[in-house]
Amino acid sequence: MEKNKDHRDLGRIMDLFSFQEIAPGAPFWHANGMIIFKELEKLVRETDDRYDYQEISTPIMVKPEVFKKSGHWKHFLDNMFYFTNPRDKKEELVIKPMNCPESTYVYNSQVRSYRDLPLRLSEIGRLHRNELSGTLGGLLRVRQMTMDDAHVYCHPNQVEGEIKTIIKIIDEFYTRFGLKSSYVIATRPEKFLGEKEDWDKAEAALKNAMDEMGIKYTIEEGSGAFYGPKIEVHAQDSQGRDWQLGTAQLDLVMLPKQFKTTYVDEDGKKQMPWVIHRAIFGTFERFIAILLEDTNGHLPLWMAPVQVSIVNVGTDHVKYAAKIYEKMRKSGIRVNLRDDNLTVSKRIREAEIGRSAYIVVVGDKEIGDKTVTIRHHKKGDVGTQPLNEFIKSIQKEIDDKE
Ligand SMILES: [Zn+2]
Repeated sequence: MEKNKDHRDLGRIMDLFSFQEIAPGAPFWHANGMIIFKELEKLVRETDDRYDYQEISTPIMVKPEVFKKSGHWKHFLDNMFYFTNPRDKKEELVIKPMNCPESTYVYNSQVRSYRDLPLRLSEIGRLHRNELSGTLGGLLRVRQMTMDDAHVYCHPNQVEGEIKTIIKIIDEFYTRFGLKSSYVIATRPEKFLGEKEDWDKAEAALKNAMDEMGIKYTIEEGSGAFYGPKIEVHAQDSQGRDWQLGTAQLDLVMLPKQFKTTYVDEDGKKQMPWVIHRAIFGTFERFIAILLEDTNGHLPLWMAPVQVSIVNVGTDHVKYAAKIYEKMRKSGIRVNLRDDNLTVSKRIREAEIGRSAYIVVVGDKEIGDKTVTIRHHKKGDVGTQPLNEFIKSIQKEIDDKE
């Protein structure tokens, strides 16, 4: 069996993205690549909407005090981009390497009551990290990345329920892409912040949530972050590789304490919420790379940059082909008409190489019957179908996001 191609090759073949010397570690997304990116973005937004997450957007450039407070300035500085404003040579600015600290400014913009919790703030945030230029490689190692991030501010008693929802979202998401998932719970390390009692409660909440959902997991004792235990989600692709993609990281102290996030409880007293840092698949860049390599570029139809390629047999069939093209375009299908001087078999071959999900061929017979003859990249020759029926069936396939 032919090995699946590297995502960088697929990026070139399918005209998805490129890397240029002027921007180390940051992709230029071409039109076809943006189709994939936007479809993924749509799915993220639809899902977050469905589970009552509220989308926010926080600045890319902020003052260092934000990351001084969060501790990144001390522990993560080598990975951050920052500069002095050339106008006054005084003002310092940081390009955010993560979204977490800034989400607290949205939380803190109002007095929060226990009735506001859980407050789920999602953000499709563009981040920059100063990775060594020698380590950069395609979409898997980048300096500029886009995260499917969210922060859930909740009462400790709500953690279990929130974790269940997050696991449900993750499970739904991976299943949709045919990826197998596995879960790891990382528990209290030797050096930790906060109270041991809180840690026990937090770890129990994570385990209970998984147990009640009947999801298997392994425990990595002592490998949690110093501010809370976490669930790591791994996905296995068709090539047998394991990727750590999603996380649900509990934060008992870091954000709440450093940024003084509070809510007013039933007795009118100020309390600290717990925060869950959540990512379903991590970053768009990395996930798209994995998906491309997993499918060898044959993405699910709803994501495919080219959903249908039309190939007319001879010049007599151009008019009918153009009519089909217009009809499909108006039906919201991403369609390509291959009308050039190459032979039919060459045009079919090129559409296949470009990862067109369907190829329809039209000649005399199809014009007479108002049909199309269909080839599918996986199923091969599917046969001939009335045009309207074919349009309906792929519209359904797209809507179902199969
Ligand atoms: Zn976070």
